[in-house]
Amino acid sequence: MISPKYFREIPQRYRLEAGKCKKCGTAYFPPRLVCPECKSKEFTKVNLSSEGKLLTYTIVRVGSDKFSQQSPFAVGIVELKDGVRLTTQLADVEFDKLKIGLKVKLVFRKIQDEGKSGLHCYGYKAILI
Ligand SMILES: [Zn+2]
Repeated sequence: MISPKYFREIPQRYRLEAGKCKKCGTAYFPPRLVCPECKSKEFTKVNLSSEGKLLTYTIVRVGSDKFSQQSPFAVGIVELKDGVRLTTQLADVEFDKLKIGLKVKLVFRKIQDEGKSGLHCYGYKAILI
């Protein structure tokens, strides 16, 4: 069975939906209930740009249980054009080609199979552009 958390996060996982503060304009991903900058509780829903740059990365050689079959894989922190930073897996990359500052794009990919039924869970991963 897919967890309720996965369903709650579908707008972010599938469409990169963020909350943009109506008062100060800061975008938050995932969305927040209160803006840490100005304490406003009013947000508009925005879809983030899928393009950004790689701020840093690492190679995971021994993944946790769910990701052990995908090891080794690269994980990075990406800053999108909107200024939002997120952690994501870097897909379809040769590790020796990775460099801080490279341009990346978020794409829709299968993340993992969940539970005994093996249902596919989808989300975003970054590829080099
Ligand atoms: Zn604000």
